[in-house]
Amino acid sequence: MSELRRDPILRRWVIMAPERAADVVARRPDPPLPDRSTPCPFCPGNETLNPEEIAVACDGNGWVVRVTPDKRPLLRIEGDPDRRAAGMFDVMNAIGAHELVADTSEHERSWADFSPAHMARLLAVYRERTLDLRGDRRFRHVFVVKNHGAVWSNYVHAHSHVIATPFTPKRLEEELAGAREYHRMRERCVFCDQLAEELRVGRRIVARNGRFLAFAPFASEYPYETWIMPLEHAAEFGTVADAALEPLAEIMVETLARLRAALGDPPYSVALHAGPLAGDHPAEFHWHWELVPHLGHQLGMEWATGIYSNPVPPEDAARQLLAAGGASGRPAGAGAA
Ligand SMILES: [Zn+2]
Ligand SMILES: [Zn+2]
Ligand SMILES: [Zn+2]
Repeated sequence: MSELRRDPILRRWVIMAPERAADVVARRPDPPLPDRSTPCPFCPGNETLNPEEIAVACDGNGWVVRVTPDKRPLLRIEGDPDRRAAGMFDVMNAIGAHELVADTSEHERSWADFSPAHMARLLAVYRERTLDLRGDRRFRHVFVVKNHGAVWSNYVHAHSHVIATPFTPKRLEEELAGAREYHRMRERCVFCDQLAEELRVGRRIVARNGRFLAFAPFASEYPYETWIMPLEHAAEFGTVADAALEPLAEIMVETLARLRAALGDPPYSVALHAGPLAGDHPAEFHWHWELVPHLGHQLGMEWATGIYSNPVPPEDAARQLLAAGGASGRPAGAGAA
């Protein structure tokens, strides 16, 4: 049974998942290729292999996005956290939501090749799921993670994860604390100020339209790190309007297409920081997506010290991504602005 343990020094929760121990050994010399001989439980027609449906989006021909429970969840939906002491330490049950989203009915399809209309439908499903999980009082945070081209992934079918945790993850806690402190000092949203600065300077912009900006952040920790943010202040992704879904979809597809064109389809992770669930002032946070390609960059020093070194300054990253061209081949901002 999984358990959450809190590190009392670094103040972060760690999921102990002993049922995944076999993965560690199996992956050491050469990761096994996903088994293609068995039917895919996420392809249309195989729904009986994966019958429990949490949410679904359909068009005239059937489902186009389908959400099911993850078969090997890191966090389980049943039960209570039961926070308790274990000697000097704190533990709780590993409860939470771990949902698996079939991003499309097509078995293998990259987000960079999605039509904006399809990407918008997927974003609408994320909106629905984050709103629903927000209502569960056991949870403190909800986020979306997509790993593309990951050798550690269990499934080939294009998929992503919606996860709700009974604690605020450390990285997000730091982000929230920084935003809260900035707001206390200046009475402005730090993300809104950063957007204004990026628009003023212009050298780190990767893509833009009338509602959203994609940019390489000033102090990027990783090469080609890119954030996508609404230009208008909004704390929670759940409040995103229908009319904003397609512009958001367009800029996400464009950004991923530029990344692929510049770097040759690297593995990447993209995450939605959807906003805190409760207790924070809505003026302090500003929802956004963060995108990081995995380029085999050395992680030893980051692990040892938390010091990041980035060999590609964001101004250079933005220039390369702009030059690479997006799905449409247009320069950034050539659309509605
Ligand atoms: Zn499939
Ligand atoms: Zn803001
Ligand atoms: Zn963030």
